[in-house]
Amino acid sequence: MTSEVTRGPINLVVLGPPGAGKGTQAVEFARRHGIPKISTGDILRDAAQSETDLGQRAKVTMDAGGLVDDKLMIAIVRERLTRRDAERGFVLDGFPRTVAQAIALDELMTDQGPLTVVDIAVPDDALVERLARRRVCGQCGNATSVAAGESRNRCEKCGGELVLRSDDTESTVRERLRVYAEATKPLVGYYSSRPTFRAVDGQQSPAAVWAALNNAVDEMRATPSAADCGSERTVG
Ligand SMILES: [Zn+2]
Repeated sequence: MTSEVTRGPINLVVLGPPGAGKGTQAVEFARRHGIPKISTGDILRDAAQSETDLGQRAKVTMDAGGLVDDKLMIAIVRERLTRRDAERGFVLDGFPRTVAQAIALDELMTDQGPLTVVDIAVPDDALVERLARRRVCGQCGNATSVAAGESRNRCEKCGGELVLRSDDTESTVRERLRVYAEATKPLVGYYSSRPTFRAVDGQQSPAAVWAALNNAVDEMRATPSAADCGSERTVG
């Protein structure tokens, strides 16, 4: 628990279902610690704009409307993690998405210090309710949340009409959560027995989630040689 331990790189993976707010937390965490936030979307956009062979392969796939497969995705992430700005660590958001990607990430981590994983957990019903309350201004794009039973339908900023986004309807949200559960929930199983895994309650306020996320990371980084301390698996 010396300060030496906490000065190593922070290699953080943030897991959580769509709508759990993990993107916002990841951005803030990266900014606070001066490390890059690396999301799959950003990586692919970056790669597609670059002249590299990997980038061009990704671009061809995406332009054809296809999904970039695990192998190419892993190669792109590997390249991204070796850039200078990731020397002090990184926050990964949206990667890994599958167990195969997680195994590949572990293989990349051998020289970079331990991986810490935080799952922002929110039950499906709570997510459906949260997203059903979300409204977007049709005029200026301002996003807001209406309380249960509230009939407000005008934007506070410009007076435009507030609308429910078509992908926030219950059936669409349930479908997104089903896809997430199928591909990504096994990841929680893959990581959960490690001393460098924590789940935080995503049903709290964003400020409380932020505090829990930081506590979890501090705790994990204070665990000496986390990888081989099998007796301390008291993760709740
Ligand atoms: Zn507006």
